[in-house]
Amino acid sequence: MRIYADNAATTKMSRASIDATLKCMEEDYGNPSSLYSIGQEAKELLEQARKDIAAVINAEPREILFTSGGSEADNQAIRSAAEIGKKNGKRHIISTAFEHHAILHTLKKMESEGFEVTLLDVHEDGLVRLEELEEAIREDTCLVTIMFANNEIGTVQPIREIGEICKRHGVLFHTDAVQAVAHLPIDVKADNIDMLSSSAHKYHGPKGIGFLYARKGIRLTNLIEGGAQERGKRAGTENVAAVLGMAAALKETAGNMQANIEHMSAMRDRLIKGLQEIPHSALNGDAKKRLPGNVNFCFEGIEGESLLLMLDDRGICASSGSACTSGSLDPSHVLLAIGRVHDVAHGSLRLTIGEDITEEEVDYIIKNVKEVVEYLRGFSPVWRDLMSGKAKFIL
Ligand SMILES: *Cc1c(COP(=O)(O)O)cnc(C)c1O
Repeated sequence: MRIYADNAATTKMSRASIDATLKCMEEDYGNPSSLYSIGQEAKELLEQARKDIAAVINAEPREILFTSGGSEADNQAIRSAAEIGKKNGKRHIISTAFEHHAILHTLKKMESEGFEVTLLDVHEDGLVRLEELEEAIREDTCLVTIMFANNEIGTVQPIREIGEICKRHGVLFHTDAVQAVAHLPIDVKADNIDMLSSSAHKYHGPKGIGFLYARKGIRLTNLIEGGAQERGKRAGTENVAAVLGMAAALKETAGNMQANIEHMSAMRDRLIKGLQEIPHSALNGDAKKRLPGNVNFCFEGIEGESLLLMLDDRGICASSGSACTSGSLDPSHVLLAIGRVHDVAHGSLRLTIGEDITEEEVDYIIKNVKEVVEYLRGFSPVWRDLMSGKAKFIL
């Protein structure tokens, strides 16, 4: 059996998305800026895709700016809000400690450019507290940027309420919704969202394409100078094929949203229940206020990497919170932000299931994780110390 359970990292392109992308590459290859018909046809397809995408989040087509993905959208949102803030003498930004690095690293950059950043606590359950947000807002706050759903532990924030608070205080609200778009209902107007980032490869579209929603009236700052594409806010010939692939993927995945949520939540809960039987383990993040496809556990006494590699041998693709494989020995900043100590955070496992996961596959995952955790603990010196009482169990 082979089970892809790393859909938070990326998803497989859907047939509809591949077909839309290929058709454009083969037939609609014109440059949307060209005036002859083949260019104008490409332009029309691009604008139709913009309409289709806008409709899914209740935005207007002109509020959608195509980008190279989620990271670019995050960068542009923060830079734009900062530029607006600076003009009004406001140099304070509020975010959370467990954002994606596209946010956190951009905020670091803004600090070096004279901005002050407050990172809200996300507590043990991986959720911000509205009172704490309200307390953190100051006269000089120009932006609140809080992710819709976390990519590691899947917790979903009270977005509408956060947006309401920001609106009341006259502060711009951006949300990195890369994990939420197409998977959870989003209405940018009802949810009081001023800016939102999305990426196609997280909902069965192509990689390297995404969009930034920016409410009418918000002046965006260019990251790329050049031609007048995207209302002059993002130069460069549009990646029409990828945009069409993104629109097709979004329409399809969002179109099946309710059924997907029901099925995946049931499979997620079955997986959680099964893994909770492993002694000295703990679910990371709130059990219910989380993405329908996200399961994230810590197992005491083991290394996430070993677990990951052994599961791969058994046909299961998963992910681990710690970043040893990427050359750093630091455990996940997300797990540290919810208060997991280093040793425990190192033994983490993220399983992000897809829409078509079956009960049989869930049971196969449970059985194999149980076996591998037990096997690894069998020769773990840390586990030996815990069992002999030399060290104390945390979980
Ligand atoms: C994947 C992801 C990103 C980055 O998106 P790219 O399109 O890969 O640049 C940003 N934020 C979150 C929450 C993500 O999951």
